[in-house]
Amino acid sequence: MCGIVGAVAQRDVADILVEGLKRLEYRGYDSAGVAITNNNNELLTAKRLGKVQELAQALIETPLTGGTGIAHTRWATHGAPSEVNAHPHVSNSTIAVVHNGIIENHEALRSRLQGLGYEFLSQTDTEVITHLVHHELKSSDSLLSAVQKTVKQLEGAYGTVVMDSRDKDNLIVARSGSPLVIGYGVGENFIASDIMALLPVTRKFSYLEEGDVAQISRFNVSVFDSNGKPVEREAKEANVSHDSGDKGEYRHYMLKETYEQPTAIRNTLDGRLVAGKLDINTFGEGADEIFKNVEHVQIIACGTSYHSGMVARYWLEELAGVSCNIEIASEFRYRKSFVPKNSLLVTISQSGETADTLAALRLAKEIGYQSSLVICNVPGSSLVRESDLAFMTKAGAEIGVASTKAFTTQLVGLLMMTLAIGKHHGMSDEKQAEITQSLMSLPAKLDEVLALASSIEDLAEDFADKHHALFLGRGDQYPIAMEGALKLKEISYIHAEAYAAGELKHGPLALIDAEMPVIVVAPKNDLIEKLKSNVEEVRARGGLMYVFADSDAHFASDDTMKVIDVPICDDIIAPIVYTLPLQLLSYYVAIIKGTDVDQPRNLAKSVTVE
Ligand code: GLU
Repeated sequence: MCGIVGAVAQRDVADILVEGLKRLEYRGYDSAGVAITNNNNELLTAKRLGKVQELAQALIETPLTGGTGIAHTRWATHGAPSEVNAHPHVSNSTIAVVHNGIIENHEALRSRLQGLGYEFLSQTDTEVITHLVHHELKSSDSLLSAVQKTVKQLEGAYGTVVMDSRDKDNLIVARSGSPLVIGYGVGENFIASDIMALLPVTRKFSYLEEGDVAQISRFNVSVFDSNGKPVEREAKEANVSHDSGDKGEYRHYMLKETYEQPTAIRNTLDGRLVAGKLDINTFGEGADEIFKNVEHVQIIACGTSYHSGMVARYWLEELAGVSCNIEIASEFRYRKSFVPKNSLLVTISQSGETADTLAALRLAKEIGYQSSLVICNVPGSSLVRESDLAFMTKAGAEIGVASTKAFTTQLVGLLMMTLAIGKHHGMSDEKQAEITQSLMSLPAKLDEVLALASSIEDLAEDFADKHHALFLGRGDQYPIAMEGALKLKEISYIHAEAYAAGELKHGPLALIDAEMPVIVVAPKNDLIEKLKSNVEEVRARGGLMYVFADSDAHFASDDTMKVIDVPICDDIIAPIVYTLPLQLLSYYVAIIKGTDVDQPRNLAKSVTVE
């Protein structure tokens, strides 16, 4: 969500900041801004509504020079997207601030500061930080101490960077709830909300922890914990390539990432199935002991990750014989819940920074969960650091806001988790071998599925003038139908809903007419005859159907139904296999609709606010 970049260097930093913002733009993008301190200690700012390109253009027309600067792409929470609400916010022409997150007590702070004579220019919650730092500085001996005093008064979530033009050698940064990473250069140092922003300038990073405040200067970085005690935050070389943020030959990141799935899953599997057996250590130290004692699994996630968790529930109860619940993080964190004995809490998050999921993990520890595991794509992220065990999905950078490869690699991780837990709960050797075999067959199977792209593209035409769509599935394909509906609504803005097909007659059948396309996910499995009855219910009411099925399911195209022939695959991996055609369908429908596929309106990636 939204992006922060900051730099303290000898050279001019404007280009570094703007390039960093471009690389973060997928996280939030209603406006962008930059503030730079020049050699005469003057504060120079530029802000633009819209994409980072608008800001880049403004800086070509009126360049800002100087070696210390901060920049931001905003995803508005308080105050409409506008130039005046764009960050950085400035107090008294000296203090400039960028901020990710939400200051929950901003109203109280605003009235206090107004009482002290501060004039507010924006509607944002962020502006209170700016004036508060300016105010605290009056009774502090340094910017660092003023920021330390300021953050103690803030409630809510923030990753923030503060610059004082009178002190151009330092940036002060603070983290609580929104991630910040320090990048180490030679004679220059950087700060960003994601390493992706800084890959062109460094590979060496350290992550701030909750409550940390740090002072960043050209030759030195000092970090202090929430008690003001100096602490070390280990710097590590990042193992990602410079251009992992490039689209390559593809028109959109989402398409690239959809096509990357066979390779991404090969990476997820790589080295983890040794001689046909799962290497339990891949979940981290002590995993086998934890899995042995697990009697119940509670899964917590949001959005697409929630759908992968729903599939895992089917797997865990059927294959591993362990009871499992799943809940949306924003619900779980605000209710009193029962903790069954020997429960494992499993969180799922692409970024590892999802605010609600992180809060749920912290709550779970307080209320007595024995152990925790995260399924995550970003090493070193908050959820990884704060969980007992972690399974890294190794999907590679996912830039498209609509998740694709992060989802399918999560499913692979969750199936491996099912194997690891099942092994201790009576899963037979044959079953284990069967699952392993299915997993190994997956990348090649997905290559076959991707070959359906052009027939799915043809189908997308039918959706050009539609405003609604219904997705149906049963069993472990029900969450896949939900994921298909989410994808369609996210990027094509067509209202889409998913139902467990057995629920049709309890309400949604009333919606069926020629204007409501019905997408059915129908591999041949134990439920196929039940699903066929539901299909007939739709047909009898004049519905138009798009059925994704294998040849063994025996559907035939006719006036009321178009059948998309999906390659036959093992039941166990079918949820993963059937995800891809639905991703492609959404993609091509969005292309026809002419929407912004990679940056759909109102959305952002890596949801670090509540
Ligand atoms: N709450 C702040 C605003 O609305 C920051 C939003 C963001 O994280 O971009 O300006």
